Amino acid sequence: MKKAVVLYSGGLDSTTCMAIAREQGFQPYALSFAYGQRHTVELDKARKYAPLIGAEEHMVIDIDLRKMGGSALTADIDVPKSGVCADEIPVTYVPARNTIFLSFALGWAEVLGASDIYIGVNALDYSGYPDCRPEFIQAFQQMANLATKAGVEGHPYQIHAPLLNLTKAQIIQQGLSLGVDYQLTHSCYDPTPEGLSCGQCDSCRLRLKGFADAGQEDPVSYV
Ligand SMILES: [Zn+2]
Repeated sequence: MKKAVVLYSGGLDSTTCMAIAREQGFQPYALSFAYGQRHTVELDKARKYAPLIGAEEHMVIDIDLRKMGGSALTADIDVPKSGVCADEIPVTYVPARNTIFLSFALGWAEVLGASDIYIGVNALDYSGYPDCRPEFIQAFQQMANLATKAGVEGHPYQIHAPLLNLTKAQIIQQGLSLGVDYQLTHSCYDPTPEGLSCGQCDSCRLRLKGFADAGQEDPVSYV
């Protein structure tokens, strides 16, 4: 089996993405970041669940984005709870996050001898983040092939974003068809210390709407 690096946050999208990578014949090498996110629930769950959802190996890299701040996820800025404006990039955007994460994924892929990287970005039911768009993924792939030894020696990288054009409901349906247990995922930006989801942040709203549209029950616990 070929290896693929899968960016894995412990969330619904990246967990589904890992199941798709496996379905497409890859051994997933899961990569997560302790980036100074305001809660560690997500990361604690990612550590616990990565082996259960089929990661061959799980690496957690420490990069403290709190030193820069600039986001409701990495600074003392409140997470919006009343829905966000569709034509504005919300304060939960983390400056350059996917560029930073994909760069680490590229480095690890080169070390592993993997030519494939999976990222669970989505351009339909998403929060308007610029680094979740297809143009960004294409540009990063082009950059990856210019930037690496493997790329210039004729082993081009492919950045897979299999959820890019799916609705949240379609992502959930695809995951369920691949046997994903969504109990083992976490989406909330602002959970309680016990790990209950708030049900009101943008991420919870998108998730709950996705399950409702898919005609399914969300198995995680809410406040
Ligand atoms: Zn929430």
